[in-house]
Amino acid sequence: MEYNLEEIKEKAEYCLNCKTKPCTTGCPLQNNIPDFINCIKEEKYEKAFEILSGTTVFEPICGRICPHKSQCEGKCVRGIKGESVKIGDLETFVGDYALKYINNNISQISNKKIAVIGSGPAGLACSYYLSQNGYKVALYEKHSKLGGLLRYGIPDFRLDKVLLDNWLEKFILNKNIQVYTNMELGKNLNLDELKEKNDVVILAFGANVSNKMGIEGEENIFVLGGNELLEYGKMPDFQGKKVAIVGGGNVAMDVSRTIKKKGAEKVIIVYRRAEEQMPAERKEIEDAKKEGIEFLFQTNIINILNEENKRRLECVKTKLLESENGERKYPVNIDGSNFMMNVDYVVMALGSGPNKELLENVKLNLNKWGYIDVDENYKTSDKKVYAIGDIIGTKKTVAWAAKTGFDCAKNIININVADK
Ligand code: SF4
Repeated sequence: MEYNLEEIKEKAEYCLNCKTKPCTTGCPLQNNIPDFINCIKEEKYEKAFEILSGTTVFEPICGRICPHKSQCEGKCVRGIKGESVKIGDLETFVGDYALKYINNNISQISNKKIAVIGSGPAGLACSYYLSQNGYKVALYEKHSKLGGLLRYGIPDFRLDKVLLDNWLEKFILNKNIQVYTNMELGKNLNLDELKEKNDVVILAFGANVSNKMGIEGEENIFVLGGNELLEYGKMPDFQGKKVAIVGGGNVAMDVSRTIKKKGAEKVIIVYRRAEEQMPAERKEIEDAKKEGIEFLFQTNIINILNEENKRRLECVKTKLLESENGERKYPVNIDGSNFMMNVDYVVMALGSGPNKELLENVKLNLNKWGYIDVDENYKTSDKKVYAIGDIIGTKKTVAWAAKTGFDCAKNIININVADK
């Protein structure tokens, strides 16, 4: 990306350098935002990168794809009366600057061995930090390339994979990390064998199985999972088709835009609540609208029908009621407001959960939500096995997953668990 330095400086100058750092408290990684912005003001870009690198390893990626409005920028004091500081743009600038001008140095090789399974944000952050501290990391990935959700969950129009490849090569991978691709736990990778060969095994294989609504007709072959569509890219021919996407988060936006770009004639997002309650980033919603995605708010699907080759959704309108505990309003179906919608495909984008079969295979204790149970050090019920990222039920953003990777690595280094 080409930058206008004057514009970057202007964006940096707009920052008030608040002593209390509210923006930092809004950042899952606790990036030292005022200090790195101050370095941009002083044209000390290398120093800005050094400050950010204390807490993150995804500068140009988080700068582009983090939901800044609900994280750091949402807490920026400038945003109280006007526009918040464009923290994401400034982080992107520093990351891109590093890619162009800064070299990565790594520390000595160590004999301590750690296996990390999964190369999404959590697995990469953890591998990076351990490798920088001299640990030997064997990083296993089930797909043919590294990146996990960064590569297989975020479409190219939101994150350029050339940038991801360049970043991985220049700042994350190093001689302390040995990469093994096309290796999948439960298939050609065995946890017991890994435990024998390594001092510690860290599970970071995510939770990317699309949730279901639990309504009739969901088993029809024209009902697809949004997360799987994005991850595996195996799509039916959407050319000229009418597709309903159920959900209101970023996956719903990503999958709807992807399907539209594949030539679908009509893509409609069906959401139970109102527009202002959608969890998707504002920018993603606006981009989807610009690209011709239609929205049907306060609408619930109660049945999926496939009769005489006619694929239809039975929908019902909803009203929103105040919740007693002051949380966001909840939808209630309005009796008698039922209507039918003809579709060719339905895509469920209602969040995701862990692969249950895989969890049975690893035989670790689960928490009450069905994720791997860990203590404050990310240790599982097996003392040699740690777990991080979405598989322990984090908030499903890149920054939150990366934070668990960093924290787990720090804990392992601090308690020197590899020596025990
Ligand atoms: Fe700058 Fe906003 Fe953070 Fe204050 S809250 S230091 S203005 S980015």
